[in-house]
Amino acid sequence: MISIDRPTADLGDVRVTNRAAVLRHVRRHAPCSRADVAARTGLNKATVSSLVAELIEHGLLRETGLTENRVGRPATTLVLDGSRYVGLGLSVGADELVAVAAGLGGDPVLTWRRAFPAAAGPEETVKALAALTRRAVTRIGADRTVLGLTVAVPGLVDPDGDVPAAPALGWRGVPLAASMRRALRDRDFPVAVDTEANLAVLAERRHGPYAATTDLVHLTGGPAIGAGLISGGRLLRGGRGFAGDVGHLPLAADGPACDCGRRGCLTALLGVDAVIRRLLPGAGPVTDHLPEIERIQALARAGDEPVRTGLTEIGRLLGQAASVLSGLLDPEVVVVGGHLAALAPWLLPAAHAELAARTPVPPGVRLEASTLGSAAGALGGATAALATVEAGRLPAG
Ligand SMILES: [Zn+2]
Repeated sequence: MISIDRPTADLGDVRVTNRAAVLRHVRRHAPCSRADVAARTGLNKATVSSLVAELIEHGLLRETGLTENRVGRPATTLVLDGSRYVGLGLSVGADELVAVAAGLGGDPVLTWRRAFPAAAGPEETVKALAALTRRAVTRIGADRTVLGLTVAVPGLVDPDGDVPAAPALGWRGVPLAASMRRALRDRDFPVAVDTEANLAVLAERRHGPYAATTDLVHLTGGPAIGAGLISGGRLLRGGRGFAGDVGHLPLAADGPACDCGRRGCLTALLGVDAVIRRLLPGAGPVTDHLPEIERIQALARAGDEPVRTGLTEIGRLLGQAASVLSGLLDPEVVVVGGHLAALAPWLLPAAHAELAARTPVPPGVRLEASTLGSAAGALGGATAALATVEAGRLPAG
């Protein structure tokens, strides 16, 4: 870490880096004193005092007024100030839209869920997303500033925020970021789009119980299976931004037909529609997944034999998918989200056994259920929207 006492214009980047280091330290270790920050970041005390003063002035840190009774002088401790700025995240599912606003400290300011059929098409979806954004901004209130909005989509997203394909939504070639910016042109915050999987793994890295993990995969449940990949603490995006698009990984050559025209893809075996079709054969076309997943949970709890057997077989497939991810990236944890997390008590035992059998050198990767629920993508969107401030840039105004 580089430390400076008197910032000059050409040392601006150093100050940004140091500001980010202070924020990161306080986020992880709050409440902590200025002396703690200096000791743990390697910055000198005068630099830390100057950075902290600036961060307090901009409403990014606040003093708690508490003191630590340690050897020496009691010190005022610092925490992140989540009161002035929020990030906004929205996610588009097959049957719902989710909105999450979160402050810098990760405190959720609001979490909304609205039933909305993806079948309505991209234009109607953009209208609904823009309306939800306006309502959220009104609810957030004039005394807080929205720093940015990130929309999570279960599909492919390119670096411009276009969605070349999102089969789970029936979308192809949707310029989502540009459409959202047009729909929200009266707003002055940046709008970005990313994949559900990338944003969900970002949420895990920040808010979940594996936040300290630097090698982490989030496998999304829901209509499309995607993987958000963090390796060495960094999100892997790949050459075109499509890394982690594992939904059509061939897992069973004689498996059920997939929407892509082939058979036995991961999505055709583990996607929410596939799981419901398999475990509730009489369910018919499903427009609202949640009640059906709850029915499966109730049947599993009651010991229904066909449902239990089906869940064990699906769990085994999940273990195979995790072993592929493990072989590629050697993560510490693979976290499963959506319906896979909801059904984890019945899926994971078989998945763990399958994974163990395929692990050449134990203990191997851990496979766990996400604790973030179906708002993980939107929460990650809210987190991503705060990224520039967390990277040490001061908010305007
Ligand atoms: Zn497929």
